[in-house]
Amino acid sequence: MPRIFVPPEKLQGARATLDVAAHRHLIKVLRLAPGAALQVFDGKGTEIEARIEAVGKASVDIALGEQRHIPAPACAITLLVSPPRGERMDLIVQKTTELGVGRIVPVVGERGMVKPGPHQRRRWQTIAEEAARQSGRADVPEIGDGMALASGLAQAAAAGGSRFLLWEGEHGPSLPRALASRPRAVVLLVGPEGGFAVGEVALARAAGFASAGLGPRILRSETAAIVAVALAQAAAGGLG
Ligand code: SAH
Repeated sequence: MPRIFVPPEKLQGARATLDVAAHRHLIKVLRLAPGAALQVFDGKGTEIEARIEAVGKASVDIALGEQRHIPAPACAITLLVSPPRGERMDLIVQKTTELGVGRIVPVVGERGMVKPGPHQRRRWQTIAEEAARQSGRADVPEIGDGMALASGLAQAAAAGGSRFLLWEGEHGPSLPRALASRPRAVVLLVGPEGGFAVGEVALARAAGFASAGLGPRILRSETAAIVAVALAQAAAGGLG
């Protein structure tokens, strides 16, 4: 069944008119015609059975039918990550979305890349929407604005939940052991390719982040981010 993301504000009535991007996917790529059934999701957890009613040059009119709520992932996971260069951040967004991450906040410390701009945020948000569509989610993770590490830590501390700093620098508890209490809300902080600066670990600790390990090997940021999200989701029973 074809699935497509439509922002909630467009789904108010019994019908909706989808834009040129939807037209390209549904009509040009999937070659659907009027009468075809599809599933629409609003990114906030609602999925709607729909049917194509009319096809314009660059728009598609659909009739909206039965709605259902798709439960949010078992663990509300916020990932604070210092974005690695290029496609590697795309990989983090795509894979952690498939694994149920709730929010990704690009944070920039002393050794990270330059603060990502709105263009990059939009690009990552589009990747998250597509990964949600493909993986059958009806909620789409929010990609936050890039911010300084200190701000990300302060926001996380204010939001509460169990907070873990993924750090290869100390033989503290492994992340699986640190997650033994099966928390339902978790913040995971993964550092840049160059590692955390010494002061940054202290800053994270002061913001209530406990350090946790992912084994004796040095993982790339993207590996650490994807594994940490999977472990947090598994601990909360979110992988079945
Ligand atoms: N200091 C590393 C570079 C950082 S690895 C080096 O010497 O090359 C990138 C990030 O992944 C780290 O900041 C950390 O958040 C995470 N990470 C990598 N390996 C890890 C491990 N074994 N345990 C916990 N976190 C790890």
